[in-house]
Amino acid sequence: LHPFFAPPAPTTPATSTAATTTPGSPPPPPPSPSSSAPSFLGLDTLFTNPVFAGGIGLAGLGAAAAFGRRALISGAGLLRRQLLVNIEISKRDPSYSWVLAWLAQPRDNTGFLAQRLTRLRNLSVTTSTKSLSPRGVDDGGGGGAGGRIHADFRVQPGFGRHMVRHAPGVYIAVNREKAGTATTATGEPHETLTLTLLWVHRHVLADVFTQAHALAQSFQQGKTIVYTARKMEWAVLGKPRLKRPLGSVVLDEGVKEGLVADVQEFLKAQQWYTDRGVPYRRGYLLYGPPGTGKTSFIQALAGELDYSVAMINLSEMGMTDDLLAQLLTQLPEKSILLLEDVDAALANRRQRDPDGYSGRTVTASGLLNALDGLAAGEDRIAFLTTNHIDRLDPALIRPGRVDMMVRIGEASRYQAAQMWDRYYGDIDGDHAGRERFLNRLDELGLFGGDTQNPDVPKRHTSTAAIQGLFQFNKGDMEGAIKMAEGLIPRTFEP
Ligand code: ADP
Repeated sequence: LHPFFAPPAPTTPATSTAATTTPGSPPPPPPSPSSSAPSFLGLDTLFTNPVFAGGIGLAGLGAAAAFGRRALISGAGLLRRQLLVNIEISKRDPSYSWVLAWLAQPRDNTGFLAQRLTRLRNLSVTTSTKSLSPRGVDDGGGGGAGGRIHADFRVQPGFGRHMVRHAPGVYIAVNREKAGTATTATGEPHETLTLTLLWVHRHVLADVFTQAHALAQSFQQGKTIVYTARKMEWAVLGKPRLKRPLGSVVLDEGVKEGLVADVQEFLKAQQWYTDRGVPYRRGYLLYGPPGTGKTSFIQALAGELDYSVAMINLSEMGMTDDLLAQLLTQLPEKSILLLEDVDAALANRRQRDPDGYSGRTVTASGLLNALDGLAAGEDRIAFLTTNHIDRLDPALIRPGRVDMMVRIGEASRYQAAQMWDRYYGDIDGDHAGRERFLNRLDELGLFGGDTQNPDVPKRHTSTAAIQGLFQFNKGDMEGAIKMAEGLIPRTFEP
């Protein structure tokens, strides 16, 4: 036993002996150093103490273990850094959706089971639906009574970790996760996608992004993307739509050609603008009654130029000066800006619902400022539309804001004839049907009255109404002529 724990030495008898020593007896031996008080608390005693030494030993072992663990972790981290490469893609980045779609692509033609995703256990599904007319033809979303709904399912990697085999011997670890409680400007949870692969395979990343981008482009081939304002940012509206051919929009003689030529000339003239220090933008105002093809023309033009459309309706609730200015500074690239219902931006007036609710709207000066701040550098084509030209702030119609104003009006004889040819051209070889139809519209005064008969009221109809009539009477010229009376605009008289 260590002396520290030894039972106390029988000192009492000794002391008493000393006390009782008789004179003449030899003096007691000097106390040994080990038994002296100062040496009792000495360091060597401490170190020779088994508990203390054991403690030190244990602490040493613990420290070594902790050190070893840390060394292992940092070694593993170092190894991981040296051997692996991580790439994090934020949901805000356009490549996020491209890579997700790429991950969901089949690798060969042997069906779903051969998909890249069969290695993934946790999938998510995005469903989009499309209404089909009873004959199974896409009716453009109208989905009439009795129409069928076609559903499209897109499978993507769900949240969590996945391992995908990119090529023989090349694996990519995918981790899709929600980034805390952060949300995107549209209110959705923020997400990140992390791809991890061996450092020696890092060259594969270039392939992944190139293939993902090419895939995204192939999805958009022949399609027009329409962006719309969602909260504070632009979001794709529905699925990319099939490009609308310019020929399918029938405007009055020369109008479409004039507009298209002007836009094309503008797109070729960047140097002219740069040389003169003029912001490289051009504004068009299309005005006229509703249903005359203003929006359809802009969509078709975007398709023709291979641009997307970034659309804002100024009469929308919640659209404010600040929001408009912000959206216009971050327009999606290669897009035509379409500002609908610009008359909603009334000079410093608030829109008021019939029930007295006064919503926040864009002011006239807010609209002018936003247009003037339209980002320079890239070409900017802005189309403004309104059904009420008389309500616009005159300051809006100034070069740089609006460079060209075009009235898109009610259907003219020329347009009605063109539309007839598009629907019945193949069955109306001698144009006899077309003449009868146009004469019938004349009789009804639908081209602004009948010059032969002053008693016929001066009326107009819209191209949308004519299109509706022809759609209803597909392949049936007689039906269209018989029902032409239905083109007379109905007036409501209380
Ligand atoms: P606006 O923007 O002038 O109110 P839209 O472009 O939204 O009119 O047209 C409404 C509907 O009518 C669309 O389905 C469109 O196809 C059709 N339409 C209207 N005018 C025309 C036109 N001039 N040529 C072809 N289609 C038209």
